[in-house]
Amino acid sequence: MDLYEHMGKDLFRAHGIPVPQGVVARSPEEAAEATRRFGGAAVVKVQVQAGGRGKGGGVALVDSPDEAARRTARMLAEGFAGHPVDRVLVEERLPIERELYASFLLDRSSGDYVGLATAEGGVEIEALAAERPGALRRVRIDPMLGLRPYHLRELTGVFPPSAREGAAAIVRCLFSLLREADATLVEVNPLVELVDGRVVALDAKVTIDDNALVRQPDLAALRDRFPIDEVERRARQAGLQYVKLDGRVGIIGNGAGLVMATLDVVARYGARAANFLDVGGGASADTMATSLEVILSDPAVRVVLINIFGGITRCDVVARGVLEALGRIEATVPIVLRLDGTNAEEGRRIIAEAAHPRIVSAPTMDEAAAQAARLAGEAGP
Ligand code: GDP
Ligand code: MN
Repeated sequence: MDLYEHMGKDLFRAHGIPVPQGVVARSPEEAAEATRRFGGAAVVKVQVQAGGRGKGGGVALVDSPDEAARRTARMLAEGFAGHPVDRVLVEERLPIERELYASFLLDRSSGDYVGLATAEGGVEIEALAAERPGALRRVRIDPMLGLRPYHLRELTGVFPPSAREGAAAIVRCLFSLLREADATLVEVNPLVELVDGRVVALDAKVTIDDNALVRQPDLAALRDRFPIDEVERRARQAGLQYVKLDGRVGIIGNGAGLVMATLDVVARYGARAANFLDVGGGASADTMATSLEVILSDPAVRVVLINIFGGITRCDVVARGVLEALGRIEATVPIVLRLDGTNAEEGRRIIAEAAHPRIVSAPTMDEAAAQAARLAGEAGP
């Protein structure tokens, strides 16, 4: 889960990391009012779960409450890089001497933490790493030992002497935040040295490990404050894994592996998935009805492919579930159904007897994918 900058900065503050004074504004009026409070000059920053705002017009230096209102109105109306924007962060304007960079992240392949620092902040760090790797300091941190003084010296040694002490205090807090909040990434770009010598985190990027949200109730609660897609919200409430893609075939399967394989086979027949949904172990009528509702509410879907391999899940139960679901909701597109595994024959018999006009039964995954691609009007050569 990527936090908005303003949420990241709340965490920073709670961990003793200095950040500019700021106010979240949800309307042009609120942005104007905040700017007035900061003496008539401020920075207005779009709040999205994406970076690159500086370059993309998502950060505006404003010189009056009126200008703050105008820029905010545009940001709220236009969104940012395809993301809806429902709030901006209005911050006091600070006189910057230089922009630095510091981050920690979890390296899943080695199982340790990596700390990064450079005196060339403000720019894209991936580009810097590729072009001038020498400008970037990197330390590996054993999670059992934690951040040691030599790590801190190595990282902050890349900064100009005047900024080292202030930066070291921040870097230390940043690492404890990473551990305590179960973050997989904490990044400050830019970390700035101000004209008066203070060091402040001007930006905050924090990614929380989704698997740790069960033990981070305060952070888990933040998830409800993102403006997410209505379809995704319904899927999440029902405990279903839903992912939106950009083709025309809606895919429902039981188990992540089977769903991924289904995407591949559909692609082999020249079609692309509009979305996919993993119903996991259970495929009751309720689950099926919710799944179909979720998949069908995506207007891009021309055909649904339900691919079930019965294990503990019995195909006869799935077959009844699909029929019951179709009794409750109206299917507007064809539904290709492939049932295999436990009680598959019984399941297919139930479907055949029902003779539902929308259901196309296919005995194998290959045939089901071919049918789906044809019905989506996307079948390749
Ligand atoms: P990002 O591009 O999405 O990472 O957004 P940032 O928060 O990093 O802001 C991008 C750039 O805007 C920074 O590198 C700064 O140069 C500039 N900026 C942000 N806040 C201030 C501020 O308070 N004063 C000044 N002068 N520049 C700022
Ligand atoms: Mn930034």
